[in-house]
Amino acid sequence: MKNKNAIPNPVELTRDLIRMDTINPPGNEEPAARYLGELLAEAGLQVSYPRLGENSTGLMAVIPGKASRLPLVFTGHLDTVPVGDAPWDSPPHGAEIQNGRLMGRGASDMKSGIAAMAVTALNLAQEPEGEGDVVFVFTAGEETGSEGALQMKESGVLPVEAGAIVVAEPTGNIPLLGHKGAFWLECTAKGKSAHGSMPDLGDNAIYKAARAAASLENFFSSAEGHPQLGKPTVNVGTFTGGSKINMVPDSAHFRVDLRSVPGVEHAALFEDIKDHLGPDIEIERLLDLPGISTPSSDPWIKKILDIMARIEGNRPEPGYVNYFTDASVLTPALNNPPTLILGPGEPSQAHQTNEYCVVEKIVRAVEFYLEIARDWLKS
Ligand SMILES: [Zn+2]
Repeated sequence: MKNKNAIPNPVELTRDLIRMDTINPPGNEEPAARYLGELLAEAGLQVSYPRLGENSTGLMAVIPGKASRLPLVFTGHLDTVPVGDAPWDSPPHGAEIQNGRLMGRGASDMKSGIAAMAVTALNLAQEPEGEGDVVFVFTAGEETGSEGALQMKESGVLPVEAGAIVVAEPTGNIPLLGHKGAFWLECTAKGKSAHGSMPDLGDNAIYKAARAAASLENFFSSAEGHPQLGKPTVNVGTFTGGSKINMVPDSAHFRVDLRSVPGVEHAALFEDIKDHLGPDIEIERLLDLPGISTPSSDPWIKKILDIMARIEGNRPEPGYVNYFTDASVLTPALNNPPTLILGPGEPSQAHQTNEYCVVEKIVRAVEFYLEIARDWLKS
């Protein structure tokens, strides 16, 4: 492709991105998307900005190939979580480097990963045309439930199929092959109000909701586990109900966070929960993201491990995580290709006060991504 512009250093690009406040809500990812988009467009990539909301867009950038192979998709999210109430040792958007660590909100989760992917794109753009497209999908609104990825899926801007996906969530450059799903429910119990001195005239919704909520504690105790991710989990995270101490409450609500293992259909899980809670409880879905998993025997994953072994000097042991990623949306939307989660950020640093990323790992991630792409594109 054209335009042999100097390629920015991935660490400096990460710092530029950290300086842009993309705390979600509200996100405000558009300046970061445009900043990266302009770099990529200048290098010859086909760039578009799928809109999620006001001042909130994602970024899609394509390096076209010969279409003799399915596209390789690299993905990451542009938004971050809030900085939290605890004071930081350095400004959360200051992007200071101390002792080999780059500090700031999003340093690990996951502006380092986005920057490493963008630098990968700029390098690939200077290389000969490959066997397939390379598609960069940078989303907005991930931290509030993969809203940007869902919007991209629903608006039809994604490729219809991908050959493989790389997700830049923080893994400390360790390859991860899957994660749990998240299924969030709002449960409501209805009753009949009455004066608190005459409870027999009412129908106490809190009692119904409390019994139902408590009954979920061991819901998964006999569920089948996943060989790497273990059992699914359930947590009742909120409970509200009633309005006055001297009234029988006519409604009560609780919210449930289910973390499913890959392979479990959420529709079936919903029916099980409904049966378990019984007719007194109404249930509404708040978030529905399935788990994903790629077997380590997958031929592409084997190749990735070979590539990483060549670069690192030893073969990494792939792992699995509990947090969910945009892959919950993108992997099924792209016809379930093998999916690798690999990013330079520290998994322990995601959503933490004084978040940092190890500077060296950003540079190393570019090497990994570039070799993964080159391997995909070669004939
Ligand atoms: Zn993340």
